[in-house]
Amino acid sequence: MTSSERNTSACILPFIELNIGTGGTASPCCALSRLITSDHRMMSVYNDTIESIWNSSDLRSIRERMHASEKLLECQICYDQEAGNGASVRTYHNTAWEHGYLNSSKATVDDVMCRAQETDYHVPTGPERLVLKVNNVCNLRCRMCDGNSSSSIAQDAVHSSWMPSHVQPTRWIGQLMKIGPSFFTGVTQGGDLDDWAQSFHDEKILSLDDAVVRRSAFLHSPLPPEASLVRIDLHSVGVNDKPFLTIHLDEIVVSEGIVEEGKNQFSITIPEECKLRENITISFDTDNPITIDQVCLERASSKNQFTGKNIPSGLAWYKDRSFIKNQLFNSSTNLTKVNVMGGEPTLIKDVRFMLGELIATGKARSMNLGVTTNATKCDDEWLESLGSFKAVMVALSVDGYRDINSYIRFGANWNAIEASIDRYKGLSNAYVYCHMTVQAYNMMHVIPLVEFCQAKGIDIQFYQLDDPRMLSILTMPRPARELASAKISSYLFRNSAVNYATSPAGKQLMAVRDALDSAYERSDSKHLERFKAFTMELDADRGQSFSGVNAELASYL
Ligand code: SF4
Repeated sequence: MTSSERNTSACILPFIELNIGTGGTASPCCALSRLITSDHRMMSVYNDTIESIWNSSDLRSIRERMHASEKLLECQICYDQEAGNGASVRTYHNTAWEHGYLNSSKATVDDVMCRAQETDYHVPTGPERLVLKVNNVCNLRCRMCDGNSSSSIAQDAVHSSWMPSHVQPTRWIGQLMKIGPSFFTGVTQGGDLDDWAQSFHDEKILSLDDAVVRRSAFLHSPLPPEASLVRIDLHSVGVNDKPFLTIHLDEIVVSEGIVEEGKNQFSITIPEECKLRENITISFDTDNPITIDQVCLERASSKNQFTGKNIPSGLAWYKDRSFIKNQLFNSSTNLTKVNVMGGEPTLIKDVRFMLGELIATGKARSMNLGVTTNATKCDDEWLESLGSFKAVMVALSVDGYRDINSYIRFGANWNAIEASIDRYKGLSNAYVYCHMTVQAYNMMHVIPLVEFCQAKGIDIQFYQLDDPRMLSILTMPRPARELASAKISSYLFRNSAVNYATSPAGKQLMAVRDALDSAYERSDSKHLERFKAFTMELDADRGQSFSGVNAELASYL
């Protein structure tokens, strides 16, 4: 029995891995429902060292609560997946850790947790693995993705209106630094969350800047020393009496009175006592709804730069060569693996610089590299870099065979993908596998991709999409799920003679089928309506046809 079977909260990732996002925020894994915080603000490499994030009281508390077998609210996604089909990011990584070659001492998850307990849940050697989401430069517009992960989607008004970029970096643009009402690095939102932020997740929104405050809400933001004013643009919703609004900066009332109809702008000098602090809380109390259009900090000069005391250059973290050389890759005495993600890593100059840095310093020779790529590009220089690492794991983000992949991953060329797979397979140090994001769009088309991977001699792994919920397999009508499940069962039956069902890929495929079966009671017509509307809108904009590539699923809608 593995540690994670005995302690169903235990997860290896907070003890070994640190994920750093494009906006500089951090998390122990890709699944946690929130980012690492300190004193109610999101930590980020702009303001915090890697060491202070890694051994923050927040991350230490996660480790301690896991060790105590406590069920963590922020890990609910893993527990839900395990309840559905027995597998989750947690169970996958725990098993991979306990049986994997990266764990050379063969320590169990229990061993690692007990060792951390001796140092009050500090892990002084630093993260063993870094997962770096460098930036969002990407040539594709995959339907389940958003502008945070694809620059092409960020420029696509139709797609972005359905899937807004959730967290953007706080940065000076001219004299202004926007900190709300949508999500910005290091800024915490609170109060009337239903009205203030939750709608971003639940509804298609027309503008990121429409945040309605019905009673009270607040922003808790880093306060760069050069900021001198807070600028707030808002308007009355105008359905009832004129609102009476009070605005506080920290505990100080800086404005109170009636909000007139139409647009209102408040330019508030930051009081001297607030300026001495590293963070500022801007709160709003109103007796009738108001709409916040934007909240900005303002400064006297207009140099265009990011801000953050840990990266004084003013550059984005992934562009700051000094940060990369001196801190990022020196944050651990035990760094065994670096994973790079985008965007599309092959298109990102900064990723190439990072790999070059690891090669030039000799670290690459003893290091494992993970790359997640859409496989549409693979040039000689890129392959040569990968060949310099001890081992490289190439995860090919491919979500279907030929047309279905091109439909989901808009802009992808299948012939280019096949050529890239062959080139990656030619690397003697590479483990190449296909990473399929399981979603409503490809549920009728799983087996052709499985067969393609078998023919190519590469493994396939499945990741079950939860967000956006409208594209999840749970959204499919019950008869459609039954058909998709039957196709998988039939394939497993046909391949029973070669014991495919007992292989790792076969077990995962059974988990996908079980998820289809167990989701019977969870379909939700609201999500299905959103699925249809989203599909039709993107089809019209892109000149694609859902029923043309997905006739079976279309027949159930
Ligand atoms: S249990 Fe899941 S959500 Fe929690 S840290 Fe592990 S992988 Fe992340």
